[in-house]
Amino acid sequence: MNNNSTDAQNKIDTVVTHAGRHPRKFHGFVNPPVVHASTVLYPDVETMVTGKQTYSYGRRGNPTTDSLEEALTEMEGAAGAKLANSGLNAIALAILSCVKSGDHLLIADTAYGPTRHFADTVLPGNGVEVEYYDPRIGDGIRSLFRPETAAVFTEAPGSLTFEMQDVPAIAAAAHEIGATVLMDNTWASPLYCQPLSLGVDLSIQAGTKYIVGHSDVMLGTLAASERAWEKLDTLYGAMGCHVAPDDVYLGLRGLRTLSVRLERHQRNTLAVLDWLKDQPGIGRIRYPALESDPGHEIWKRDFTGSSGLCAFDFQAGTAREEAYSFLNALALFGLGFSWGGFESLAIPVRLKGMRTATLLDEDLQSVRLHIGLEDPEDLINDLDQALKQTFG
Ligand SMILES: *Cc1c(COP(=O)(O)O)cnc(C)c1O
Repeated sequence: MNNNSTDAQNKIDTVVTHAGRHPRKFHGFVNPPVVHASTVLYPDVETMVTGKQTYSYGRRGNPTTDSLEEALTEMEGAAGAKLANSGLNAIALAILSCVKSGDHLLIADTAYGPTRHFADTVLPGNGVEVEYYDPRIGDGIRSLFRPETAAVFTEAPGSLTFEMQDVPAIAAAAHEIGATVLMDNTWASPLYCQPLSLGVDLSIQAGTKYIVGHSDVMLGTLAASERAWEKLDTLYGAMGCHVAPDDVYLGLRGLRTLSVRLERHQRNTLAVLDWLKDQPGIGRIRYPALESDPGHEIWKRDFTGSSGLCAFDFQAGTAREEAYSFLNALALFGLGFSWGGFESLAIPVRLKGMRTATLLDEDLQSVRLHIGLEDPEDLINDLDQALKQTFG
């Protein structure tokens, strides 16, 4: 073993720094090379026909992809990990690896919008019945089980509305009927939540967000438990999935600083929200790390930290024009989708009609914020001037 080997006893910050790196294999260089490859040569025909060589063909992986997959496998305590072209691609692959025609799939009503779009467009045509459930259901998920229930898709906190879910209770119930449990863990990243330790079989990341961390690459990651790994690995190979080495390298590079970036995102977010909660015109804050949040107890039990994504509702009666005027007045917060980069972002959210299994009847105007790595005082000043411009 070289000096950079890690073992299961290491804490997550150490794992993030060392996992997947083998400098002695690459002349001592700290990072693995970016391997651009399709063809791999064999020393002789015997090796070729017996397949006794680590790498066989570019599509099947190379030292760059192996490095990130190995790091994720270790961080997530998984049987194996795979990379995808985007977070949504990872979600689609994870679902397809565990459902087949005739199956019933339960999805949290608060799942990321494009996850719903995939489930509503691709799955019914392939004979899979999709049903959405209230994320607060916990162990009550049993009442929705059918003989053909094959998988439960969780996401915590919920997209845009930030509800927490009792994932361990859902996972325990699902395993009793042999169903596979999936979790979109993008918000916490594998640093602040390890879904497999909560009973999840397939842990999914939009690596685009915090793992890459710099708003410059699309990437997805999948980590599987022993029982889910083989099916995922088989589907992945059969579908010809492959992520380009430059993008994988940027994912690896981002991963190494995940811990220091998330710590700052968390600190800045708590500072901004502590100020924001008392401002006139502001209603509910949505962020499970706050004691006032309904999901706080679950967050405290299952997660070890919180990230920079949060939301707030304007007080009832705020007009859409006012919410838009606030957003247009922001100077440091960019108006843009995605999140997880170093910069602050904002998007408008209209809650009404967004869900099908949970009632979100209030016609409130909300804003989702990504709190970046700027000085929190400057962010507060920016929000302050935008609120003043809007509400006087
Ligand atoms: C962004 C996001 C995704 C999708 O990731 P992409 O890389 O944009 O495809 C999935 N889940 C959550 C929670 C996200 O925020």
